[in-house]
Amino acid sequence: MARKAPKKSKNENGNGPVAVAAVVEVKPVSGSKRPPGPLINMPGAAAVSATPMSPSLKAEPAPAPAAEPAPAAALASRSQASALAVPKRHDMWEQAQRQLDEVAKTIKLDPNVHVMLRHPKRTLEVSVPVRMDDGHVEVFQGYRVHHNQYRGPCKGGIRYHHEVSMEEVKALAMLMTWKCALMNIPYGGAKGGVVVDPNKLSQAELERMTRRFTSEIMLIIGPDRDIPAPDMGTNAQTMAWMMDTYAMINGHSVPQIVTGKPVAVGGSLGRIEATGRGVSFITAAVAKECGLDMKGLRVAVQGAGNVGSNAAKAVHELGARVVAISDVKSGVYNENGIDPFKLFSAMGPKDFVENNCAGQKISNEDLLKLDCDVLIPAALGGVITDANAAQIKAKIIVEGANGPTTPDADAILEKKGIIVVPDILANAGGVTVSYFEWVQGIQYYFWELEEINTRLHKIMKNAFTNLWALSRRERVSMRTAAMMISVTRVAEAAKSLGLFP
Ligand code: NAD
Repeated sequence: MARKAPKKSKNENGNGPVAVAAVVEVKPVSGSKRPPGPLINMPGAAAVSATPMSPSLKAEPAPAPAAEPAPAAALASRSQASALAVPKRHDMWEQAQRQLDEVAKTIKLDPNVHVMLRHPKRTLEVSVPVRMDDGHVEVFQGYRVHHNQYRGPCKGGIRYHHEVSMEEVKALAMLMTWKCALMNIPYGGAKGGVVVDPNKLSQAELERMTRRFTSEIMLIIGPDRDIPAPDMGTNAQTMAWMMDTYAMINGHSVPQIVTGKPVAVGGSLGRIEATGRGVSFITAAVAKECGLDMKGLRVAVQGAGNVGSNAAKAVHELGARVVAISDVKSGVYNENGIDPFKLFSAMGPKDFVENNCAGQKISNEDLLKLDCDVLIPAALGGVITDANAAQIKAKIIVEGANGPTTPDADAILEKKGIIVVPDILANAGGVTVSYFEWVQGIQYYFWELEEINTRLHKIMKNAFTNLWALSRRERVSMRTAAMMISVTRVAEAAKSLGLFP
């Protein structure tokens, strides 16, 4: 029996809130733009926007990473997602292209570069036959997409989810291009996925499926061509299987083929926590700009997987009060604060937040509408829509997930003065430390955790500072500013390389 991707033009997960684009020379966006975000208590907001800050479109020192990690035992918990009804959304790919088109206008992007960026460099669709534990064979559908490689090899996660589709993977690959460019990491964008609910497979079936999928996409992956990493439904164990499959077929070990793998086989210290840690750096930075104190900052987190759990722990360490957290089943609200360290040490891999946390039970939908300072959506894409954006009370949204906010919702939030920190900045800590992992693998020389976290902090701080300045100066949303920077960098690379032949 074959499992096919649902035939639909819309998909749900992480549709990237890809913002707009920019040109090679970043021109000051002329007049238009809506007022700069909601400068909540921001001391001297006017002064900020009046200050002719350089668009900071200059290349900074370089940084770097890739996709997304997850502890081995987390497979079970992340796979819960598959059981849930994912919110219906519009076509992510169309949306990603539209966002590029908008930025292209804003920055007067060269039409010849624009047209190339609108298309993925290559797409691969594979059948993945797997012998199940009872002896019968099932065929799963898999994808790998390279959006482009102007700035370096392709980089992006592998997602196991029953709603994965080619359209979604194309959109997420494009998002990776912008994310890597924004962080000034020398990668192009890629993404992959298999249409499967990993929760419904045994570990042995998952391993066989992962190994066969890896062999099928070996046509286009490689340590200097395309380096996969974990995403929803996959984790460090998945990466170890991919690495081993690649090694078996090639006859020698190639640790740089994947990132987000276990430390025991060349993974980087700090990779598992990197995305959540990066979310906390950005939360602290934006709160400061808005005149909000990190100490006691009320934070609500949707998602208790890799990103959600580590973001909750990291903001807690910085003094914030986590007032709510949820997983696929439900959420818990506690005005006095939830200690995420206690919560996650008590929670088993297949356990739920509601069984381990004191407080009032709330739904995932209600969590989004809580009265809090910062909302961190860190589960699925497309959860903040035109249907609920008007009811959101958070002052700031920091996008831990890929594509949690639809463009329609973005417009509503902006009118309400809510600052939205786009995913391509907020969750880029994962790809940054993946980049570190890749570099360490190439050199066979591994860094101390302190060095990794210091470098991560520096890169994220630089990216935030540049983006914030451009956003204030041009009076555009942070998402638009992020896209202006990213697309400008990618376009610059495209122009330098020229067009083959
Ligand atoms: P994960 O599989 O570890 O965790 C997902 C979490 O979301 C789980 O707690 C699950 O219970 C919850 N969830 C699933 N469906 C839900 C629903 N319908 N409503 C509410 N909660 C639901 O995944 P992750 O690695 O933490 O990734 C989460 C998001 O962050 C994804 O959008 C992913 O693309 C993005 N992301 C992850 C990384 C990374 O390093 N892991 C990096 C960048 C972006």
